Amino acid sequence: MSYSEINDLIGSSGKKIGLSDEKISQIAEPQRIIAVNLAVKMDSGKTKIFKGYRVQHNNARGPYKGGIRYHSEVNLEEVKILAALMSLKTAVIDIPFGGSKGGIEVDPRELSSNELKRLTKSFARSIYDVIGEHKDVPAPDVNTNPTIMKWFRGEYEKITGLDAPGVITGKAICDGGIKVRDEATGLGGAAVVYEITKTILKQKPEDITIAIQGFGNVGNHLAHHLEHMGFKILAIADVTGGVEHEDGLDYHKTLKHIKSGKKISETCECSVHGPSKDCCTVGAQEVLEKKVDILIPAAIGDQITKANADKIKAKIIVEMANHPVSSAGEKILDKKSIAIVPDILANAGGVLASYLEWRENVEGKKLEYKDAIEYLIRKMKKSTREVQNTAKQKNVTLREAAYMIAIERISKSLPIDPNRIE
Ligand code: NAD
Repeated sequence: MSYSEINDLIGSSGKKIGLSDEKISQIAEPQRIIAVNLAVKMDSGKTKIFKGYRVQHNNARGPYKGGIRYHSEVNLEEVKILAALMSLKTAVIDIPFGGSKGGIEVDPRELSSNELKRLTKSFARSIYDVIGEHKDVPAPDVNTNPTIMKWFRGEYEKITGLDAPGVITGKAICDGGIKVRDEATGLGGAAVVYEITKTILKQKPEDITIAIQGFGNVGNHLAHHLEHMGFKILAIADVTGGVEHEDGLDYHKTLKHIKSGKKISETCECSVHGPSKDCCTVGAQEVLEKKVDILIPAAIGDQITKANADKIKAKIIVEMANHPVSSAGEKILDKKSIAIVPDILANAGGVLASYLEWRENVEGKKLEYKDAIEYLIRKMKKSTREVQNTAKQKNVTLREAAYMIAIERISKSLPIDPNRIE
């Protein structure tokens, strides 16, 4: 996906709801782009420069919100795309946040823990003045974790002299994090699947078959909650490949097997799902082409493109990864009448839990775990119904409907007085 594709989608959805070109361009372009060069002392005594970015896309509806990723392929274009998706995501589930994203171009596996800590503190020092509980709230993302977030927060609090637990979400529970965060994206996705199947497939969960690509934080919790709701998961694969079984896979046994250091594909020969003769291995790409009711790409972006969209046999695709379906792939899927539940709705459970964590931190009020679960499920189902209703009323795809809802909400919060536009 490119930023111009998001721009086009914002433009076409904005036009459909009657927005002026001025308003559309206020929403399409990021409000602030920060690029920094971070000088870090390595353990060898030498200094190395790393590139870091923070893109603050839109804060019309509340503080900017978005993760920080550490990856060797981080670049400004990608950070801009992800920041825009965050603005749309927080608006489509109607929480009082805007959207942002950050990242450092680094392979964290090549750094010692002390080097990683110095890099993180250097990043915090570079952007601390535009970050804050009520300004911009980062969180962990690809290759970052609660420990890295704790280093970031520590440096921020040292510089500002503030006690600011809500400056970061995705914290460890002992540092002000919340229990539901870890499973929230998967749980939210399961709630979306449950709601969407009621109207599109009109079948009971036990009669609905599912294939999942990706068995990390998202795929794993998603599989757990889908199984709990009664859906039949026929195939799962991660980057190393996976398995399929026509009677359905046993999620808990699969997880136990993986935790013992084995691959998903080895569950077959180990008879984890019953006699191995009834079980087949599948490739990481092949899993996308399985004949199931629902396909869930929950791994990485651009997995369904014009190269393989023709081979997709599912009736519904639920985008748990960010932009797993390319624009060219989507055109082919649309012609085949395959419904696509867009990422900005499907994987919004994570930021919803982050909102609960932030609210606890800034208000100082605790929310029980069961209440957080209930809130998350209720809010994700409600957002799903809103997107479905708009799609039906306006005769547009689910993605267009989600964009229309998000853009309408953002546009209503934009400054009306041009003198207030900086
Ligand atoms: P993760 O790193 O925990 O897991 C990624 C999974 O994808 C692993 O099972 C890995 O083996 C698999 N994978 C990687 N490359 C693959 C390939 N080429 N083919 C098949 N499988 C492959 O990541 P995660 O936190 O589970 O996130 C998954 C996706 O969901 C990402 O796109 C992420 O941006 C998105 N997302 C995550 C969250 C969250 O809260 N974790 C929130 C919103 C969106």
